[in-house]
Amino acid sequence: MGSTKLVVILMSVLVSMTWANIALSADNIKLYALDCGSYDVADMKDLSDTGVYDGQKLEMANPCFLIRHPKGDLLWETGHIDSLADKVNGEVGGVWHSKLKTKLVAQLAQLNITPQDIEYLSLSHVHPDHAGNANKFESSTFIVNKLEHDFMFSEPTKSNFGEYYSALEKAETILFNGEYDVFDDDSVVIKSMPGHTPGSSVLLVRLSHAGNLLLSGDLYVHAQGRKLNTMHRYNAKALTLDSRAKFEVLAKKENARVVIQHDKQDFERLPKFPRYLD
Ligand SMILES: [Zn+2]
Repeated sequence: MGSTKLVVILMSVLVSMTWANIALSADNIKLYALDCGSYDVADMKDLSDTGVYDGQKLEMANPCFLIRHPKGDLLWETGHIDSLADKVNGEVGGVWHSKLKTKLVAQLAQLNITPQDIEYLSLSHVHPDHAGNANKFESSTFIVNKLEHDFMFSEPTKSNFGEYYSALEKAETILFNGEYDVFDDDSVVIKSMPGHTPGSSVLLVRLSHAGNLLLSGDLYVHAQGRKLNTMHRYNAKALTLDSRAKFEVLAKKENARVVIQHDKQDFERLPKFPRYLD
């Protein structure tokens, strides 16, 4: 056998092995959407800087996502703080009425998982509806955009919200810029989409049956907001518009199912935990 032919055979074996590995990991990835609370918004005035929603009401979801990969578990978001579930009527802050039915820790327990079992934690951003239970995951490796990490551990963010995530300051941490391929096989990729906060991110997940999913973080917070391209009053506007343009290109290129995390309909269309997508 000529050496060139041998090299070609070896290369094709290697290529098919690589494809087999990718197929194998995609085949074994499960995505669970957990109900990590909800919001009743008495007045949507904060959701736009144009006044278009003033006086309207909205029910919002607040999910967490568990991605189970052969190389480990990634928890994307930690939801409202679990102690909220002890308050029968939830909690009201201004126009925002937060509720939580079942604690995140109790939901994970249904899969026989404790917070200590979660290898990787990442948050779309550091606001309390996403970081509520972050302190419980101090033993996980925290994957975070460098700018978000700077933002969360500097003032005034640290004083405002640090009580929810202060333990992460000492957690094993992976800082990234741009994007981060969590399992190094392109199946679960965190993508920076700043604007809502300085280091806000979205998550791309490739599943073998359900296809590609894009979890929005708070780049958008309801379906109508995506249609009308409205945003929170406090978003950095130019940055948000730039991220949204990139997000829409990505969604098209990846033929991805977009899940606007806070959108109640988007959440309800996902399998009800403990059912999952794979
Ligand atoms: Zn949020």
